[in-house]
Amino acid sequence: MTDPAPSRAEIVVDLAAIRHNVRILRDLVQVDDPVQLMVVVKADGYGHGMVEVADAARDAGADWLGVATIDEALALRAAGDRGPLLCWLSAPGDDFSGAVAAGVEVTAYTLEELDEIAAVGGSAHVQIKVDTGLSRGGAPRAEWVSLFAAAAAHEAAGRVRVTGIWSHFVASDEPSHPMNHTQEAAFRDALALAAEAGLDPDVTHLANSAAAILRPSSHFDLVRCGIAAYGLDPAPGETPRLGLRPAMTARARLVTSKPIEAGDGVSYGHTWTAHEDTTVGLVPTGYGDGVPRAAGNTASVWVEDSLRPIRGRVCMDQVVVDLHGELPPPGTEVVLFGPGDLGEPTAQDWAEAVGTISYEIVTRIGGRFVRRFV
Ligand code: PLP
Repeated sequence: MTDPAPSRAEIVVDLAAIRHNVRILRDLVQVDDPVQLMVVVKADGYGHGMVEVADAARDAGADWLGVATIDEALALRAAGDRGPLLCWLSAPGDDFSGAVAAGVEVTAYTLEELDEIAAVGGSAHVQIKVDTGLSRGGAPRAEWVSLFAAAAAHEAAGRVRVTGIWSHFVASDEPSHPMNHTQEAAFRDALALAAEAGLDPDVTHLANSAAAILRPSSHFDLVRCGIAAYGLDPAPGETPRLGLRPAMTARARLVTSKPIEAGDGVSYGHTWTAHEDTTVGLVPTGYGDGVPRAAGNTASVWVEDSLRPIRGRVCMDQVVVDLHGELPPPGTEVVLFGPGDLGEPTAQDWAEAVGTISYEIVTRIGGRFVRRFV
């Protein structure tokens, strides 16, 4: 934390950490087989900056990028990305033609989507998503045979190329969850039916970060890693130490600090009252910037080499922290979360404090934070 003083709250994204993590993941899945690596950069690169993360990931050897929406894919193309790129969540009325023209691979869950994509022409590259148990997107088992037959017919007529078949895990962050085995078996069934229909996709894939790390049997041709590329543990308590480095630091500067007396309540509703005389500091960021309101009285920040608990409710623009009798000057650095190297909380610590997952912490932080890349 020796960078020049920022005047405002900022998110610092360490692109070297992204590259480091991508290399670790690439090496991990290439040990035995030439499994390809997709880095998932949807939702603005999990809050880290989609375009910058995409560049760093490609640099470090990501074979593919993955996003949810066509708009995200087209934004990557507009920023100059030209590599293999898959998107997987269309909305009714979405126009597939732009994506196809831009060489983006699109995903079909249904016959209707497949027909729409085929109608674009130009031998659209389409991947088929099968639902193996998540009951979210993807074709249910009862529709696999008809969907594969339709895809094979479109392919034979030169309207599409079926380049992939894939699915998504329910609980890969829980290695002993029975669905892991069930889904892997169902996915193999789907691939066998696809082969019977005459499909021969370039890539088949099922694994996200947790499965990429914990379940080699689920690697197939490619793994789709999001959270681990950002340096966060996809299955806290379950994953081996791989040396992943969290890429995001959220920090701000104290506006003021002042004494309060025993019995004084803090912030709206006085949900915290000082038991003894202490000092408090005002941090100029709040739930309007994606700081979880649930961090009130649960999470801590890092000020002058110590953990300082958040006291009382998080407000829209402000947070009050307990400075335990010290009065650091205005402008003193406050680290909300970071890699944890100096003792500061991590996004995982915040997630545990507020009852969520690190994905939500990093993806939602933003608002008036200024993002800076190092
Ligand atoms: N694949 C799909 C379809 C996803 O939606 C996501 C993220 O939610 C991922 C892969 C990456 O998951 P993770 O961040 O757990 O690696």
